[in-house]
Amino acid sequence: MYSCISSAVLHGLKAELVKVEVDAGNGLPGFDMSGFLGSEVKEARERVRVAIRNSGFNLMPQRIVVNISPADIRKHGTGFDLPIALGILAANGYIDETRLDRMLVLGELGLNGDINGVTGVLPCVLCARNEGFNKVVIPVDNENEGEIVDGVVVKAIANLKDVVRYINGEDGFSGNKNVTIKETDCTQDSEVLDFSDIRGGDAAKRATLIAVCGMHNIMYMGPPGSGKTMMARRIPTIMPEMTFDERLEVTNIYSVAGQLGSKRGLINKRPFRAPYCNVTKSAFLGGGMYPVPGEVTLAGKGVLFLDEMTEFRPDILEGLRQPLEDRCITIVRLNNSYVFPTDFMLVGAINPCRCGYYPDRNRCNCSEQDIERFLGRISNPLWDRFDMCVRTEQIKYSELQSESIDGKETDNEYTSEKMSGIVRRVRKIQMDRFRGRKIMFNSQMNSRDVAEFCQLGKTESKLMSDIYSKKHLTARGYHKILKTARTIADIEGNNDISMSNISEAFYYRGIPDVKG
Ligand SMILES: [Zn+2]
Repeated sequence: MYSCISSAVLHGLKAELVKVEVDAGNGLPGFDMSGFLGSEVKEARERVRVAIRNSGFNLMPQRIVVNISPADIRKHGTGFDLPIALGILAANGYIDETRLDRMLVLGELGLNGDINGVTGVLPCVLCARNEGFNKVVIPVDNENEGEIVDGVVVKAIANLKDVVRYINGEDGFSGNKNVTIKETDCTQDSEVLDFSDIRGGDAAKRATLIAVCGMHNIMYMGPPGSGKTMMARRIPTIMPEMTFDERLEVTNIYSVAGQLGSKRGLINKRPFRAPYCNVTKSAFLGGGMYPVPGEVTLAGKGVLFLDEMTEFRPDILEGLRQPLEDRCITIVRLNNSYVFPTDFMLVGAINPCRCGYYPDRNRCNCSEQDIERFLGRISNPLWDRFDMCVRTEQIKYSELQSESIDGKETDNEYTSEKMSGIVRRVRKIQMDRFRGRKIMFNSQMNSRDVAEFCQLGKTESKLMSDIYSKKHLTARGYHKILKTARTIADIEGNNDISMSNISEAFYYRGIPDVKG
C-alpha cells in the first residue's frame, strides 16, 4: 500500500513544501529511505518504528520504503518523524487516507509516541497557508507559534495516537477553537528599563535620541562606569512599537533560529542583542551546515550592541560591513545561497584608550601612539558606518547628590516616554519625506538623497565648506554631518537645516582629536 503525506522543510527563513511518500508491502522486511536526506532524517527510522509500536499499533513484518521529494532540496531536522509515521500507518490502513488531503504535518517523535517540538514551525505554517492547505498538525510545544497564523486550522497534538484519532475524525478532536495570540518577550529583560533611571549624561541622552530618530548608528566612548551599557540597553524603550508585520518577521527569524524560548508566542518587543566579544563568526553572522540566522539577523528591527568593541576579533568586525551596507547577509552552502535580513541599528561602546581614562591625564598614561593603536582596532571603513560618536562622562558628584535628596525629578526631559514621543514624530516626518522610495530613515540617504533633502542656505553652505576643508573630511564624513543635521532639524520641526544643527552634528562626527 502506498500513501503520501505533506510536510515542510526549512530553507533559510522560509519553508518549502515536501511530500513524504511511503510504500509498505511484501518483500524482505526492511526500512529504506531516500530523497537527499540529512543524517538526523535517516535516524527517523528507529524513532518511528519504536514510537509506532509503543503507541499500540501492530505492524506486520513488511518492507517499508520512504521517499521524501522533491529530491533537489536537502531534508534536515527531525520534523519528518511524524509524517513518516503517519505515512506508514496510512499504508497499513490505520488512517483514512482521504482525510489527509490538504493537511500538512510536522513533528519529532519520542520513543514513547509523544510528539516533541521542532524549530521553524512558524514559517512552515505560513508556507502551508500560502500553498492552500486547510489544516496543519504541529507539536503541542509549538502551539503558540502556530496559532499566530490565521487562515488555516492549526492543531497542536501531544502524541501519535491522538494524531491518528484526530485525522480519522474521532471524538474530541474536531473543530477549531478561537485563539488569542500569545505574546513573548525575546529581550528577556526582567526589569522595566527607562532612560530616567540614568542620572546625568544629558549630552549622551540627547545624542541617543537623535540617533534613534534617524536610525543613525552610534558609538559611545567613555571611561568604565560612565553608563555606556545602561544607555544602550534603553534604546529599544524609545523605538516605536513594532507593526504586526514586523513582529511576524522577527518571530519568524527567532523560530528558525530556535530562539523563541519556551512560550514561543509572537514577539512583542524589539530585539536587543549584545553578543560577547568571543562570539564565533557563525553565531555572529549566521552559519552552520543548514544556515541559521546569527546575531546580525536576530537583532533585526532592533539594536545590535557591541560592548568593548575593540575587543572583538577583526574578522568579526569586518564581517559587519556587508550587513551594514546591504541590510542583508548572504551565506552560501552546497550551491545554495541563503539571504538573511540584517536590519538593525548598530550601537558600539569603547573605552577611549587602553586604560579607559583618556583624556583625563591625571589617570591616563597612554601615549598618543598607544591610543591610536588601540582605536585602530576598529578599521576606518567600519568607523565610517557610525554617523555619530558621543563621549560619555562619569557621573558628577552633584548628579549623585540630586539622586540622594529625592528619588523623583519632576522636570526630567529624558524619560523614555517623552523621548519615544519625539521619535514617533520624527519618524513620521521621514516617512512622509521618503514615501515611495526604498529608504525609511535619514541615515539611509545616499549622496543624491542628501543633495535633495539637505539643501543649505548661503551661510550654512559656507560653514560646511569651512568644516570640509579645515577638518580634512572625506566625502562620507561630509555626508554623515549633513544626515545627522537633517535629523536634528527634524526634531526641532524645521524644514531648513540651521547653523546650530550643523555644529551639533559636527560635534558627533567621529572621535574628536583622534579620528575624523
Ligand atoms: Zn589611557
